[in-house]
Amino acid sequence: MIYELFLPIKIVAGIDSFQRLSVETEQRKIKRPFIIYSRSAIASQLNIFKQELPNAHFYEISKGEPTTFELEKALAELIVNNCDGVIAIGGGSVIDLAKAVAVFAVNPNLSLNDIPNLAELHRLPFIAVPTTAGTGSEATKVTVITDEKLQKKVNPAHPSFIPDVVILDAMLTVNVPPPVTSFTALDALTHAIEAFVSTKANTMSDFFAKEAISCISRNIETVFVQPDNMEARQQLLMGSFYAGIAFSNSSTNLAHATGRALGVKFHMPHGQCVALMHPFVIQYSLESAYERYEEIAKIIGLNSTQFLSGYLDELNRKQYIWKSAQQIAPLLTDEVIEQLAEQTLSGNGILTNRKVPNIEDIEVIFKQLRKRLQIEGGIVEWQQCQVEK
Ligand SMILES: [Zn+2]
Repeated sequence: MIYELFLPIKIVAGIDSFQRLSVETEQRKIKRPFIIYSRSAIASQLNIFKQELPNAHFYEISKGEPTTFELEKALAELIVNNCDGVIAIGGGSVIDLAKAVAVFAVNPNLSLNDIPNLAELHRLPFIAVPTTAGTGSEATKVTVITDEKLQKKVNPAHPSFIPDVVILDAMLTVNVPPPVTSFTALDALTHAIEAFVSTKANTMSDFFAKEAISCISRNIETVFVQPDNMEARQQLLMGSFYAGIAFSNSSTNLAHATGRALGVKFHMPHGQCVALMHPFVIQYSLESAYERYEEIAKIIGLNSTQFLSGYLDELNRKQYIWKSAQQIAPLLTDEVIEQLAEQTLSGNGILTNRKVPNIEDIEVIFKQLRKRLQIEGGIVEWQQCQVEK
């Protein structure tokens, strides 16, 4: 068997490592950086970045996930301002947009569909600074963009989407609201577990998946109850990055396939949906990859593989994931579940699941979710769930 592993060229990690951004920019010979950012992610640090990079042009991303409209708008601004490199400072949406901007700035005649078929793809120098832990987008060769003409999400993959430099500094994750911290951390844990049990898993993706599971499981609860614990935040950020490498070089599976369908239907955040589905997907898949799940349980410190779904259920309970989704329980009718199952089957992540589901299997998984959501009564708003600093 032959394996491949794609990684960023350089990784700079540690508390306050964002101060290295100007040096890294200089080393990449970027004279006028195009900085894509989201205001909510770097509110308090924006002026510091402006001082550090006085020649930069700052582009604030609109709310929500990137679209082809946003891509064209950003590209036009990059060209007018003669920018010669791209820096992303933000969560997955910001990094995904920046990947496409860096590529299309030098390939204006390409389409998103052309990209996966190209052997070589030039782009502008590209640095990614994630502010969530996280989507792992800073480590992956995929970008997710909504094609507004086709009215659907496209996710072209190419090694050129991987940044030249990644800066991992937990100081930049402190502005993230607690629910987003929970959603993204549970998403990262799902990336690591799904990459490890995927049919595409290999000795190199396993290496990063196992380290990711360890980093995330040891720190996820600490970050939730002690949001100012920077060491735990840094470990979570590292885990999220390793999980990104793992799934970019393996795959995600059924928790993502079902989670995507749920997110589209109810306009819920990706990480929340994936966290909601994961315990049931593991119950369904357990026997087909028992030894792999056993290894995961050992890394987390569980006595039995049977406890793995319970562990994730409990994490969801502690982080208010079940409560955050209770309002969808009455909307999950048998008819809606049938639609969700069909959408799940038409997406990615089915064939890489160790046990390939049919439509009835997926319907059962969604019905289990419905039942679980009915257990805790009353709707709890996220604002009520936030932890006091
Ligand atoms: Zn995910």
